[in-house]
Amino acid sequence: MPYWLDRPDAPAPADPLAGETECDLAVVGGGLSGLWAALQAKEDDPGRDVALVEGAEVAHGASGRNGGFFIHSLTHGLANGRARFPDEVETLERLGRENHREAVATIRRLGIECDLELNGDVVVALEPHEEEWLAEEAAELGRLGNEVELLDRDAIRDEVRSPTFRAGLWQRSDSAVVDPARLCWGLREAVLQLGVRLYERTPVSRIRRRGAGVELDAAGGRVRARQALLATSAFPALVRSVRRRVVPVYDYVLVTEPLSAEQRRSLGWERRQGLSDCANNFHYYRLTADDRVLWGGYDAIYHFANGIGPEREQREASFSLLAQHLLATFPQLEGIRFSHRWGGAIDTCTRFFAFHGTSHGGRVAHTVGHTGLGVGASRFGARVALDLLAGRETEATALRAIRSRPLPFPPEPLRWAGIELTRNRLAAADRHGGRRGLWLRALDRLGLGYDS
Ligand SMILES: Cc1cc2nc3c(=O)[nH]c(=O)nc-3n(C[C@H](O)[C@H](O)[C@H](O)COP(=O)(O)OP(=O)(O)OC[C@H]3O[C@@H](n4cnc5c(N)ncnc54)[C@H](O)[C@@H]3O)c2cc1C
Repeated sequence: MPYWLDRPDAPAPADPLAGETECDLAVVGGGLSGLWAALQAKEDDPGRDVALVEGAEVAHGASGRNGGFFIHSLTHGLANGRARFPDEVETLERLGRENHREAVATIRRLGIECDLELNGDVVVALEPHEEEWLAEEAAELGRLGNEVELLDRDAIRDEVRSPTFRAGLWQRSDSAVVDPARLCWGLREAVLQLGVRLYERTPVSRIRRRGAGVELDAAGGRVRARQALLATSAFPALVRSVRRRVVPVYDYVLVTEPLSAEQRRSLGWERRQGLSDCANNFHYYRLTADDRVLWGGYDAIYHFANGIGPEREQREASFSLLAQHLLATFPQLEGIRFSHRWGGAIDTCTRFFAFHGTSHGGRVAHTVGHTGLGVGASRFGARVALDLLAGRETEATALRAIRSRPLPFPPEPLRWAGIELTRNRLAAADRHGGRRGLWLRALDRLGLGYDS
């Protein structure tokens, strides 16, 4: 079980849908995207009758099993945004910071206790070529209005004690770590208080036009809605155009037992920033509120034909690699034991950040494709999807980055072969000083390149 969900005070699931019901807006998916959508829909218009329909339980998907890095970027990092939408990246950065600040203000206003720690995040360089990247990135982030600090070898090792660290880039503003399940449960409680009707254990199998609205077929019943908002992430999409553009990619996480006082002291890490490295196959790690180390990332596993399901959530080979990498980074933790290990599906698209759109004659909107960086961006994506449903033109909806869609993935078996080859070449680039070979350069030219 994911550490975040392994809590005695997790909310009891709401009753599933039984029979037929009607509403103004049906939100499908009870992760952060769906919860932020339901909250903002109600806060925009308290009279709107909103139903939130979740196939399992709130926070069952990525939202309850992520690293809890709550970062302002809307584009999966500055480099990815700049490569794809250079003329809009400044605006996207500003909108990302505004979204982050508004999310933090909302969490505080609603009194959601989710161990929010606004200490920033540090990207560390482990190889010489990565030091250069960090220096370039720091300059650009600073120019775009972020508070950043470049840490040399001594400074980063003073912050966090690892013999592998060569340099660090500390993003001090608009970056936090959070307990993601508690954030979900807090939002769940808030939307219930606002009168949202929540149906859990209610998978939706189909959506179609009906009269002036839409009809959703769900286990146990049917929902008739004026409009619907789909926030189904890596799970099979209910709309064909989305199905071709999202693949589930599994990412794995370990959590240690609580550190002893001596282990805790041996790490330094007094300011408790979220940490990650900047390889293509990167790790992310942080302290939990009860001083465990959460350690995740590196492997990204795609299963043929968009394979997804609970049987994919445990992967011995990935856990064993993660444990080895943790000890290489923090040898002082030799002998540490792990209390939790899990995997989760990431909604990966070919541009590596979310896309939004409408279908069914404008009655249905979707927001999906965060590709592993959606804790903060999910709130923004939900806002965009609500604005699309309302036909509202905003600064965000006017952007090409928001109006456009990523290229679809090819059909199988090409899909699997292309993803495997890309994974293999990304690992090779990490081994060869970051140099991208022919295949990666070809993808870069097609606008499909990945740069973590
Ligand atoms: C291992 C892992 C680590 C990550 N780490 C980070 C991180 O540190 N920082 C970060 O920013 N992002 C991270 N992410 C990504 C982040 O968790 C998500 O982008 C974010 O939580 C938004 O999720 P979501 O609501 O779009 O999707 P989800 O949380 O997956 O929610 C989708 C929900 O829809 C429901 N659903 C799907 N289909 C149907 C249907 N047909 N009917 C009814 N319900 C349905 C599912 O049951 C699920 O609950 C990570 C993801 C994973 C898997």
